[in-house]
Amino acid sequence: MSDKFDVIVIGAGPAGYVAAIRAAQLGLKTACVDAFTGKDGKQALGGTCLNVGCIPSKALLDSSRQFWNIAHNFPVHGISVDNPKVDMATFIGRKDKIVKQFTGGIGQLFKANKVTPFFGKGKLLKGNQVEITGNDGEKQTISATNVILASGSVPIELPFAKFDGKAIVDNAGALDFTEVPKRLGVIGAGVIGLELGSVWKRLGAEVTIIEALPEFLAAADADIAKVAAKEFAKQGLDIKLNAKLNKAEVKKDGVHLVYTDKDGEQKLVVDKLLVAVGRRAYTDGLLADDTGVKLDERGRIAVDEHNHTGVDGVWAIGDAVRGPMLAHKGSEEGVAVAEWIAGKAGHINLDTVPWVIYTEPEIAWAGKTEKQLKEEGVPYKVGNFPFAAIGRAVAMNEAVGQVKMIAHADTDRILGVHMVGPGVSELIAECVVAMEFKGSSEDLARIVHAHPTLSEAVHEAALSVDKRAIHKGN
Ligand code: FAD
Ligand code: NAD
Repeated sequence: MSDKFDVIVIGAGPAGYVAAIRAAQLGLKTACVDAFTGKDGKQALGGTCLNVGCIPSKALLDSSRQFWNIAHNFPVHGISVDNPKVDMATFIGRKDKIVKQFTGGIGQLFKANKVTPFFGKGKLLKGNQVEITGNDGEKQTISATNVILASGSVPIELPFAKFDGKAIVDNAGALDFTEVPKRLGVIGAGVIGLELGSVWKRLGAEVTIIEALPEFLAAADADIAKVAAKEFAKQGLDIKLNAKLNKAEVKKDGVHLVYTDKDGEQKLVVDKLLVAVGRRAYTDGLLADDTGVKLDERGRIAVDEHNHTGVDGVWAIGDAVRGPMLAHKGSEEGVAVAEWIAGKAGHINLDTVPWVIYTEPEIAWAGKTEKQLKEEGVPYKVGNFPFAAIGRAVAMNEAVGQVKMIAHADTDRILGVHMVGPGVSELIAECVVAMEFKGSSEDLARIVHAHPTLSEAVHEAALSVDKRAIHKGN
């Protein structure tokens, strides 16, 4: 086999593996180099998302939700279960099995599409050559007309709360606790803090989340964040805002935290500490000094709107570049770049990338928040509709939250949709489609939505933009 490829992808996360498959589908001779080692010490394709991110966290969120429902939801339906217990080996084992199924699945997809996988650390050299260093230190060099950098991201470490993999952990550690921590501290009330904090809270941990910002979930629309904060407080998640961690010391009886909030210095002892204060683009050892590929001010690989680095034949996608650090954003960039390389019309619109937070209730949004539109001086109108008036949500005993739709005041074009409530991870897709087609709130208002479904909340929110919701006052 010749070591010259049309495309080499470095990184087999959702950005890289999707780019590799799409490039191969388009008839390009493609290789994909990845260094991720699974729990069994073997190569595990799929990157952060499949191994220690999206998939395992959703598996644990689902398992923990079943357990939570026994005590908090079943009684409403007249069902009682005495003394429910969680078997931790099965709880974690189920997650591991799902991870293995999906990481193994990527290997099969590579085989089916004739993508050549390489296991090792890839380094881009000048002239689109890639040096691969295996776990045993052995090196080999391959080359290609095009190289796609998809090296992803890693958790940000706090200098005064360094990860030790036991007491102070990152996302990977918090997905693998062997028992439920009695007291779990979380630094950062962001997406990971809320999702993994919820998992362990549902199993009985006392969860305290320390968040530096004064505002809760600043990236979301304020109305949605307010409802979510209220629900999380009801569930017993103790979220301390405007709180700055100063020290975390591991002692025999736990991790001793010192933080400052509006009332001054505070102390807290926890059994485990999850640090989830954001992620940084991972480019360590990725680029030889003379490649010409540049990093931006935040250490991300600098790219233009076509994900091109400015160096002939070198592209970059996913968490390693600007834009939201989301699996689906990286995957769509991967598809677009493969298509651009093949001379086709690739497309990605970063303005309509949906966000979903898989807490209970779920949170989802796409487009602009009301605050952003105010700052930009864009005239807008708002419609909203509560799940409390949706028959299906009430029947499910999950009638919490709302759908909020924001449309341009003059053109009625949908500018943003923000949701908190049951099943909103799925409901947001309809709104993204409407926004991609430059749809108006009236377009959604005139579309027939099945009854009784949760999607009626989207329909009614669209009607409410024009003050004509049927099942609430306007
Ligand atoms: P990654 O998935 O990080 O993959 C990069 C790969 O490249 C890795 O395998 C890495 O080992 C490899 N690599 C890096 N450098 C080299 C090199 N030099 N040589 C060889 N290989 C290299 N996003 C969502 O959209 N939905 C979710 O529900 C969601 N949940 C998440 C939950 C958690 C706990 C975490 C941590 C993240 C979650 N994310 C979620 C974010 C999502 O995981 C990332 O956005 C996504 O994985 C980024 O994809 P990527 O391919 O750019 O990078
Ligand atoms: P995040 O950016 O979502 O949240 C980090 C939080 O930590 C912020 O609220 C920030 O203000 C706070 N913070 C920062 N420094 C702090 C400090 N010193 N003390 C206290 N608080 C501090 O980051 P994350 O939760 O680590 O997740 C990383 C990224 O992974 C997310 O932004 C997202 O892109 C991705 N992710 C997505 C999903 C999903 O799509 N459902 C799930 C998990 C992760």
